[in-house]
Amino acid sequence: MKLDFKKLVKPYEKESVSKLQEYIKIDSVNDMSTAKEGQPFGEGVKNALDYMAKLGKEEGFEVDTCEGYCTELTYGTGDKMIGIFAHADVVPATGEWKYGPFEPVIEDDVMYGRGTSDDKGPGLAAFYAVKALKDNGLIDGYKVRLVYGGDEELGGRCLEHYFHVLNKPSPTYGFTPDAEFPLIYGEKGIGGYIHEYELKNDNIISLNGGTAANIVIDEATALVKKEKDLDRQIASYFKLIGVNFTIKESPELKDVLEVKVFGKAAHGSTPEYGINAGLLLIKFLGHHYGDDALEKLSDNYIEPTGKKLGAYYESEFLHNSTYNVGIIKTEGRTLKLTVNFRYPENVDLDDACRKINAQNIGKVESIKGGKPLLFDPKSPMVTTLLKAYQEESGDYETPAMTIGGGTYAKECENTIAFGSHFPGRADNIHSPNENIHLEDYLSSQYIYARAIYDLGKLEK
Ligand SMILES: [Zn+2]
Repeated sequence: MKLDFKKLVKPYEKESVSKLQEYIKIDSVNDMSTAKEGQPFGEGVKNALDYMAKLGKEEGFEVDTCEGYCTELTYGTGDKMIGIFAHADVVPATGEWKYGPFEPVIEDDVMYGRGTSDDKGPGLAAFYAVKALKDNGLIDGYKVRLVYGGDEELGGRCLEHYFHVLNKPSPTYGFTPDAEFPLIYGEKGIGGYIHEYELKNDNIISLNGGTAANIVIDEATALVKKEKDLDRQIASYFKLIGVNFTIKESPELKDVLEVKVFGKAAHGSTPEYGINAGLLLIKFLGHHYGDDALEKLSDNYIEPTGKKLGAYYESEFLHNSTYNVGIIKTEGRTLKLTVNFRYPENVDLDDACRKINAQNIGKVESIKGGKPLLFDPKSPMVTTLLKAYQEESGDYETPAMTIGGGTYAKECENTIAFGSHFPGRADNIHSPNENIHLEDYLSSQYIYARAIYDLGKLEK
């Protein structure tokens, strides 16, 4: 008999929507000022984790509150364990909101609120998927474990504690509903380093720009000594390349110009979508003061894949390396570039470091980074999840993907990012007016139910 997963989750539709509203109402932004033993990420996160613990208990799950780092809900018995990793913390609700970020309003079948799509909605959808299977006696011969972390947004100390302090076992098969459908079977490694360069020309007083390694610099400032005709040369240079800029006398320093260049921010995993104001400014200064190495340094990074830097890598599934200069600053005569480096599975970080230094333009001390993640796209876990998504959603077009970013999947073994953002939907996570289409919320429930059921049937 073929199971109808849509029918299976249908009875919980109303309940799952009203529970999501309750869950969203809990402001679970990390707040270290209220952190203490048992609530390492503060009171709000604790309340959200408690909410899931209570819900689990009411439904007959085995509950472990994991010293306040995560809420773990387990159902079923057997050696085989299907793990689902979602998170209960949310990013701060900055910006202009149509409705209160923690007062979930439903308008035209869309629920607004911080956490609706990242990641309370998807996490609760997975809960109702498991509940539907459980209530119908379909968790048989395997165990399902839902884990809600309290610190995904600030670095994953929740799962770190869960796996490495509490020594919890890894799942046989796992997924994290904290990304996109269909699924992400590969994630580049993410690393970083500082590239130092000694400035040769004293006319450059300082250079600054950027706030984080993983964002393309959208604004950079240089202080340079005034000289005849300099402002006109700056203006014609930046007009020619078509970026905005300002030039004015420094308010603090005599005979010094302050030059600001404006680019376009983009995520560090896709530097090609941004315009790096810092690199353009460095390029101009190298050019203007005849410092060829400095100009070359900026050229090496303006091409974001590492081809000019001499450290380009690629692989079949994770594709090319990317280098994003996210912060520039001067300390004395030393220019420091903070670089976010993303790489496929065939990269040795020491080798990349040697290659960059072989160019003899400044120096990189060492490159640090985490492991890339890659599953065989033909493996049973990947094909099972993909099939569950395709057959339940009817979308056979959107391919399984690999990304340059990192998801929760990197923090657990045998775990892959699977939904629940649907292809074609505008992505509004971390933005004001974050929302979830209730249609998507409910669809993900039967997709997850089907996926869990099928994973439960896979050989160990
Ligand atoms: Zn998330």
